[in-house]
Amino acid sequence: MKTVKDYIRTIVDFPHEGILFRDVTTLFADPRGFRMAIDQMLHPYAGMQIDKVVGLEARGFILGGAIAHQLSVGFVPVRKKGKLPGAVISEEYTLEYGEAIVEIHDDAIQAGEKILVVDDLLATGGTAEAGIKLIERLGGEIISCAFVIDLPDLGGRKRLEAMGMDVMALCA
Ligand code: 5GP
Repeated sequence: MKTVKDYIRTIVDFPHEGILFRDVTTLFADPRGFRMAIDQMLHPYAGMQIDKVVGLEARGFILGGAIAHQLSVGFVPVRKKGKLPGAVISEEYTLEYGEAIVEIHDDAIQAGEKILVVDDLLATGGTAEAGIKLIERLGGEIISCAFVIDLPDLGGRKRLEAMGMDVMALCA
């Protein structure tokens, strides 16, 4: 039987030479693969209270939307700077080259709400850390951070665990 990993392809030299990019569009495009990924991402949280799913731009929207629908809870996007129309709070973080800023609507999460953070891939953890800081600034209580892929050599899991986060990934 195929596993989630079998549906993910690796593209060489994207977006730069020397990078092996994990392409999850092939997972999303396959009805069995996509359902398997969503079901497996939900499995660890069965019976736990989750009030909202926060998805990180952009592939976290696809996964997070499906997970929120399955849990019958709301979905909140963390977006790159300048994309959200309402009042926002922002976090800057460091990329391989330069800096980036992510934002969340300042009324998207109520203090004490239990949050599941979702993205496709955990690398250095910089993107997830910025999202986590935004959620915590609004008073959200993060239950866990769920990914399809964890690249353990890049240190993201250790970085998030050092912040006290529970981290779940389907494959490496
Ligand atoms: P980090 O901030 O952990 O270094 O990088 C993770 C972020 O970059 C995620 O939002 C993820 O979507 C994106 N990313 C980095 N490398 C890859 C990759 O090889 N494949 C995919 N699908 N996303 C990646």
